[in-house]
Parts: sequence; structure tokens; C-alpha cells
Amino acid sequence: MHDELIQSAGEWRRDIHQHPELDYDVLRTADKVTSLLVEFGCDRVETGIGKSGVVGVVHGRNPQKGPNIAIRADMDALPIVEESGVAHASTRQGMMHACGHDGHTAMLLGAAKALAAERHFDGTLVLIFQPAEEGGGGARAMIEDGLFDRFEIDEIYGLHNWPSLEIGRFMLSPGPVLMASDRFTIELKGPGGHAARPHECVDVVLASSQLVSALHTIIPRNLDASEQAVLSVTSIHGGDAFNVLPGSIRLRGTVRTLSPHARDLCQSRVEELAEKLPQAFGAIGEVSYVRGYPPTINHAKQAKTLADAAARLVGEEAVERNMKALAASEDFSFFLEKKPGAFIFMGNGQTAPLHHPRYDFNDEALPHGIALWRELIQGGRS
Ligand SMILES: [Zn+2]
Ligand SMILES: [Zn+2]
Repeated sequence: MHDELIQSAGEWRRDIHQHPELDYDVLRTADKVTSLLVEFGCDRVETGIGKSGVVGVVHGRNPQKGPNIAIRADMDALPIVEESGVAHASTRQGMMHACGHDGHTAMLLGAAKALAAERHFDGTLVLIFQPAEEGGGGARAMIEDGLFDRFEIDEIYGLHNWPSLEIGRFMLSPGPVLMASDRFTIELKGPGGHAARPHECVDVVLASSQLVSALHTIIPRNLDASEQAVLSVTSIHGGDAFNVLPGSIRLRGTVRTLSPHARDLCQSRVEELAEKLPQAFGAIGEVSYVRGYPPTINHAKQAKTLADAAARLVGEEAVERNMKALAASEDFSFFLEKKPGAFIFMGNGQTAPLHHPRYDFNDEALPHGIALWRELIQGGRS
């Protein structure tokens, strides 16, 4: 691959890293992507899809022959104060690219530049740059804004960098690769009172501690041991004096599951325990359970196509084709609910973990991501 292309991708990556933007407010990044796609000679570039998403279209030599393949990158950063200490660190206080979406965007731009120049493929390439992956559901917003009506798309692919996986290695699986992510808030209420006279009060502190323990029995005692699932209570708030039993306590937590069965079961058990257990203590339990991203489930045929492309580049031994699903989530899942496709993880080497203040996307991974997308589209004709 041309050194010049890798160098440009590195420059785009570090520039985006220096100017992180959150959620749907990715206007500078989207503008940069748009002007580069136009400069590369894309046949069509549309902006403002799902508020701030950008889509570019590149026709191959025989567009009628098909297929129409979409590749997606995400553009948003996180509300984290950067501590990486790198020269291209964030210039915006309290925001940073701690998930490597700067790298994902730069790699798809690199592939777009090469593919728009070469066009050694039939069919059409659709380049999707989405906002708000980090919790805002930007993928869903783009779908609701007509992504699949406005652009003909037969298959869709995406990737995520993975720290601790060596550079030049890939992993994926046919079937689930990431979990569903749901959250709950439980409010326990009861008349509080003097801490020295608990017999005259309802002790929501005690009730909440019993509830935390009970919630942690859901997975080991209700789900088949072969199911992958995680429940964590992540916050407890209530009370502010040493001699007063508070009138309310708020618990929050997250539930990660792979199967629809486990997802439904965890929700109904959390709701049941949160409402009924406090009653036994004379308290009232109110629960709000919110479903977030669904599990990311690869389609077998497209997972094989993507794994084969990776294996042609880096060798079969550097591609894990049957990875165990990771306990994280992705809104790429919304695309895979609508279209056949696959999501792959690529090595980012020994960097800090994702969402860590010292994380930085590894530029050594750039050539591998660009090459993967070229190989997927041109299948050895790069
Ligand atoms: Zn992230
Ligand atoms: Zn991410």
C-alpha cells in the first residue's frame, strides 16, 4: 500500500483526535469527512442523515452487476478528560477520543480514497459515517432517517479496534460478538426517621442492601449456566447524616445479555425483586428498566466473507474465527437487525483499555484497517 495514503490517514486521525466531538454534535468531523469524500471523487455524498451522519457512494466498474456493500465507521468521542500526554491530545476540555472512533473514521477514509481511485470492483460501495455510537443510538437514527431507502445496500460491515489484541490480528465469530446493554434505576422509599429509633421507621438502607444481594442471584440462579450474562449494581445514593435513616435510596445498574431469552428473564426478575423485596421491609420499590443496544449478532455468510478477507491479508493463524462474545455493546447491532453483515475486531496492540483517559488509537493499526476494507471490496484485485 502507498506510504502516502497511510501518512494521510495518520494525519486525518490525529487531527480528528485533537478535535473530539460528542454524540450528535460531530459537525467539524462530519464536515471534514464530507470534504474529503468529495475530494476523493465519490459519485454521491449526502450529509445530515440521522442528524449528522454522512454517506458517500462509490460505483464500481459494473454497478449493475452488484452487490451493494456498505462499510460503517463511527465519528463520536467521549466525555472524558484526556491523560494520554501525546502531542495530538484533545484540545477540548472534557472530551476525548477514548474509543478509537478517530481511527475507525480515518481508516474508512483511507479505504475510500484508494477504492474511489482504483475501482477494481463490481457493484457499489456505500461509506457510512455515523454520529452518536456512544449511547446515543446514531445507527438507529440513520436507519429511521431512511438510510436503507435512500441507498441501496445488500450487506453491511464494520470494525472496532481492540486493545491487548496484537496489531495485525483480527477476531470475530458467526453469531453474537457483543452483548445487549440494558440499564435499571430502582427507587426505594419509606418513611425514614431517627437512627436510634429504627423500630418506628422503615429502614431503606437495610432494604437496599438486601436488594443488592438479591439482584446478584438472578444470573447464577435463574439462567442456565451456559448462558453469558452480567449484572452489576453500579451506584447507591441516599442519606446524608450519621443519625438519620433516609426516606429514600436510589440504586442504578446495568444488565448485559446475549440471548433474547436471557434479556427478557433478567428484566422480569429485576422488576419483580425491585418491587416485591422492599415490600417485605415495609418499603416501596419503584423500578425503571430501559433497554439499550441489542446484542451484535453477525450473519454467518458475511462473517465468513470478512474473515476470509482478513485471512488473505494477515494469514489464517492471525484470524480468530470463533471468538467468544465480548461483554461490551455496539449500536452496529441495529444495522445487523436490518441487513446481513458482520462486525470484526482488529488488534490495537498494547494500549490503555477503551474508554480509559490514557487510551490512544494506535496508528500502526491504520494500514491493516484500510487493507481489510480494500480486500473486502476488491477481493485480491487491490
Ligand atoms: Zn466506546
Ligand atoms: Zn467504540
